[in-house]
Amino acid sequence: MTFDDLGLSPNLLAAIKDAGYTSPTPIQAGAIPVALTGRDVLGIAQTGTGKTASFTLPLIERLSRGRARARMPRSLILCPTRELADQVAQNVRLYAKNHKLTMALLIGGVAFQPQKEILDKGADILIATPGRLLDHFERGGLMLMGIEIMVVDEADRMLDMGFIPDIEKIFSLVPPRRQTLFFSATMPNEIVRIVNTFLKDPERIEVSRPAQTAETIKQYIVRVSDGSPKGKRAALRASINRDNVKNGIVFCNRKRDVDVVARSLQRHGFSAAPIHGDLAQAQRMKTLEDFKSGAVRILVASDVAARGLDIPAVSHVFNFDIPRNADDYVHRIGRTGRAGLTGESVTLVTGEDKKALDAVSRLIGGEPETLVLDGVKAPQGEPAKDDAANADESGEKPARSRSRGGRSRKGGADKPAEARKPANDTASKEKPRGREHRDDIEPAGFGDHVPDFLLRSALG
Ligand code: AMP
Repeated sequence: MTFDDLGLSPNLLAAIKDAGYTSPTPIQAGAIPVALTGRDVLGIAQTGTGKTASFTLPLIERLSRGRARARMPRSLILCPTRELADQVAQNVRLYAKNHKLTMALLIGGVAFQPQKEILDKGADILIATPGRLLDHFERGGLMLMGIEIMVVDEADRMLDMGFIPDIEKIFSLVPPRRQTLFFSATMPNEIVRIVNTFLKDPERIEVSRPAQTAETIKQYIVRVSDGSPKGKRAALRASINRDNVKNGIVFCNRKRDVDVVARSLQRHGFSAAPIHGDLAQAQRMKTLEDFKSGAVRILVASDVAARGLDIPAVSHVFNFDIPRNADDYVHRIGRTGRAGLTGESVTLVTGEDKKALDAVSRLIGGEPETLVLDGVKAPQGEPAKDDAANADESGEKPARSRSRGGRSRKGGADKPAEARKPANDTASKEKPRGREHRDDIEPAGFGDHVPDFLLRSALG
């Protein structure tokens, strides 16, 4: 299938070509033709599947006829976070470059007056976080009865963040005769209820979850006997110092640890930066840009901050803490192994993490391979290299890693072959890693290559 088959106009096809895409991803192939007919869409898809284009392209197409009226935007895209809203806006700019459509962005941290001026003149596309949108609405600067198309992106994350009452309110303010394009990675009961209440006979399009993409992700755990923050930070450094780590995201469960871990990595000479909700918007955007350009090699993040960020081609995901919720594990590791590239995840596991590890193992169908790193002592009875002396914070030692094939694995036979392989030769060569190691970062995006795992569910 090509983009020409989807019913898009030449202007859009030209913009898509300029973006470097050759064929639609499954969510695009499924959602675009339906959305173009004006029907409601329920898209069940994760970040990384190309879902943003699956709603922005038909939205632009349908808005290309007609004009916005003052203070009455014609379409509304709701996003859970400012970063996600900003990324959607970047997508719209890219795809609508051959159209004369106006766009306003209502998110925290963006100067209000210029956005208000666009709204006053008439915006075709309004991109907003729910709280900000309602603020503006309540102050009277905005009317929602002109909305022809409403998009809800990452609805399940809206639920996690407590936005459902806001979403219900917004649904009650837009005209009933509108088209709704609704996206969620998962379908908890509360989201099913919203869909049943506010969508009209939607076409449901579901594409594979990251768990099914695991053939491109090698998953490891590192058992850490010293479960203190200091012991874990030493284990994290040893994990990052492995040979094939180009760039990565370190996930922490708590916001305050994000800063502590990022500072500790910086002190040890790593190019690292934190990203979490307490940082100023401008700072978060800059950090994200630096990470995308390769100026920052390691991003330290919380789940909420990382959700929805468009960060393709990460070679590694590190779980400084194993997530409390096993689903988050799948979301986190889905940051690597994208676009058909191989990636690795390394999860630090202390003696206290047994329950969480069991939950993750149940979800992914077996425990990840145990990786043994020099200087990281495993709890007694677990595989370890007896070298506790290195496990302090005394700087960056070259790390060597080996795997004990399957020593602690349960039910590993269910796992994809790639994930069952022991840490391979790339992990066993010794080479010190320092702050200079950034020249080899892959460029972001799929380019013109659409990975097989994305195509599979569209065709099958
Ligand atoms: P998303 O799931 O919308 O966050 O998109 C993930 C990444 O895929 C983004 O970097 C997009 O630029 C890229 N992308 C979207 N659609 C395509 C396509 N048809 N071909 C190649 N890359 C794409």
